[in-house]
Amino acid sequence: MTKAPQDPVARLLRAAKEDAVDDSFRVTGVMMQYYVVCERELWFYSRQVEIDRGNTAIVRGTHVDETAYREKRRHMSIDSTIAIDVLDDGRVMEVKPSSALVDPAKLQLQYYLWYLKHVAGVEKSGVLAHPTERRREAIELTAEAEQRVEAAIRGIYEIITSDSPPPASEKEVCESCAYHDFCWSC
Ligand code: SF4
Repeated sequence: MTKAPQDPVARLLRAAKEDAVDDSFRVTGVMMQYYVVCERELWFYSRQVEIDRGNTAIVRGTHVDETAYREKRRHMSIDSTIAIDVLDDGRVMEVKPSSALVDPAKLQLQYYLWYLKHVAGVEKSGVLAHPTERRREAIELTAEAEQRVEAAIRGIYEIITSDSPPPASEKEVCESCAYHDFCWSC
């Protein structure tokens, strides 16, 4: 087994390809979403801070309808790190109920495509589906998207290895965040 490299992207690839037990650095799709939504939320999540504030996913509008396109997609898990849905035509699909928070969902899907290419050696296209709006958006892993994903991996590494969380900054999603009371209760 080779020594863990310094660069987070190289580290993640080594850990995934070699199933390295000496390196716990993994990036899930949820972490990609949190990286865009709120870095502080990502830090809490990485420390497995769990607070029951009801179903915040429904309040936030990120709750996914598990029945959407059910007949046309197969669920797959890779390395216990990423969980993807694959359509009959081979495209990777991410289902979102509305256009709210679409950018985090897009980065998540781009990360899945990146992971499939660099870890599994499979090049795929993606589709971001909004069933309630009857709309789909094609997502490709362009060079620009790859750069964005790799920058996000490095950014996530920096945040989750920090000893303290980034400061709270008020945003629209705070009201529906599981950590709301951590950030805003006196
Ligand atoms: S309440 Fe707001 S600032 Fe605090 S973790 Fe949640 S989204 Fe981030």
